[in-house]
Amino acid sequence: MNDIAGATRQLSDALGSDCVHTSEAARFAVSFDNSRFSFMPDAVVLPRNEADIRTTLLLANAHRVPVTVRGAGSGSAGAAAPLRGGWVIHLAHWKNIEILSSASMAVVQPGAITADVDAAAAAHGLFYPPDPSSVKHCSICGNIATNAGGLRAAKYGVCRDYVLGLEGFLPTGEFVRWGGALRKFASGYNIKDLWIGSEGTLGIITKAILKLIPRPQARHTFLLAFESDENALDAAADLLARHIVPSVLEFLDSQTVACVKKDNVFAAFPPSTGYTATPATAILLVELDGHPAAVADEATRTREWAASRATIFRETDDAAEAERLWDIRRTCSQAMFQLGNAKLNEDIVVPLHAYVPLIRFTREIMRRTGLATPTFGHAADGNFHIHIMYNRDDPEQCRRAEAGILLMMKNVVDLGGAITGEHGIGITKSPFLRLQHSPAELAAMQAVKNALDPRNILAPGQIFEVTNIWEHRPVNVTLPWDKH
Ligand SMILES: Cc1cc2nc3c(=O)[nH]c(=O)nc-3n(C[C@H](O)[C@H](O)[C@H](O)COP(=O)(O)OP(=O)(O)OC[C@H]3O[C@@H](n4cnc5c(N)ncnc54)[C@H](O)[C@@H]3O)c2cc1C
Repeated sequence: MNDIAGATRQLSDALGSDCVHTSEAARFAVSFDNSRFSFMPDAVVLPRNEADIRTTLLLANAHRVPVTVRGAGSGSAGAAAPLRGGWVIHLAHWKNIEILSSASMAVVQPGAITADVDAAAAAHGLFYPPDPSSVKHCSICGNIATNAGGLRAAKYGVCRDYVLGLEGFLPTGEFVRWGGALRKFASGYNIKDLWIGSEGTLGIITKAILKLIPRPQARHTFLLAFESDENALDAAADLLARHIVPSVLEFLDSQTVACVKKDNVFAAFPPSTGYTATPATAILLVELDGHPAAVADEATRTREWAASRATIFRETDDAAEAERLWDIRRTCSQAMFQLGNAKLNEDIVVPLHAYVPLIRFTREIMRRTGLATPTFGHAADGNFHIHIMYNRDDPEQCRRAEAGILLMMKNVVDLGGAITGEHGIGITKSPFLRLQHSPAELAAMQAVKNALDPRNILAPGQIFEVTNIWEHRPVNVTLPWDKH
């Protein structure tokens, strides 16, 4: 039996009590992420420097104490929750951002907030494109550890596409550097890319070197209303087939639009065409960006394309108005709590030809379970957020939600898709991992984990072990991003 209390005292002696916190309030605050499944750690470690991280890892290995590293805690798969207790290394206060303007790179500490990285880049006319909807809250290394996507992923790619170098610690406590402030790097195995998306299980990132690109000078935004979910999704596929690549192409299905409409968000946008949303109305939000001349040309082509398919509810090249249009999308997540006090929130991916079969299947699940299945997401890359809304206090509804999400995940894999496109596996998707991967694939992943973390110190239980979330009640807390 490992003596975690004794190890924690040793850690506190080594780092100082101002770096190691054991109060119930401090431990509870880092015990869950946006999934709200809480697992209490034994201590919270606030390292002052890299030496503190190394000391923590060496002691953790010596005493077999589980270690979970945490950014801003906005992850939605429970990956930052300390499933097996132990120590949480909290790096939210490591926030430095340095822009290497002439090299078009940023050197950032793990806790830097993603929106702040882009704002710092913008001051140099540069752009850090990956923009999860949580961009104002999430940290850059949380993004790297989950390979976060975002609204602009189809045009600009995901987090992985912008990571040139990483520094940090192996689970065993050795300092390592993968890649660097270099545009090319082909030396040895590419462990940098193994760390990206590894959900804090293969190493602790203490510094990231990011690629920046020139900032687009213009943007143009359309809010398009369609008569049905199928019309909107067919139109999205048709737009992409015309080789118009919007920076953002967001889909809101009719169930989502109905929730948003009840929240009166549309009142701010009286339809210029006299269009009134019906219960079947679905929406596409389309944004074009780039050089002003190219954006003007694509806006003309998009307007012509939309004329025969949709009602142009609104279009604008004014940044402030575009932000208000985006509020419709940002409101979705909270608006759907009109349909139940809890939701299952999946971030699946399907190929272009499966968009319509997928949305029909969400409605089939609604029919079979009697539970609402609002869906929205990134139509340009097939990454949709499908939900099942239910009442957590009703065991029968919980049973139907659990059965419904399993059917949904099986359908996604049958459609040639992926069970997660950006949130990762963590604990909440661990029950579905074996739908996606063969035993050989899982064994290869486990072999990597065993090689880098022979004592299974970092985030034990995450990804590979099946956690039944239905045995755990989510905590009832309000989080900073809940107002959207
Ligand atoms: C409202 C809302 C909208 C969202 N929209 C999106 C979206 O559009 N796209 C998207 O991809 N995600 C989205 N997310 C999910 C979440 O914001 C992302 O997963 C984000 O990348 C998590 O960052 P974080 O700093 O909060 O990480 P945390 O939740 O703290 O941690 C996430 C994972 O990263 C690991 N980690 C953190 N720091 C380090 C480090 N220094 N070294 C190694 N591992 C580390 C943790 O151990 C954990 O496994 C959304 C979440 C919310 C609440």
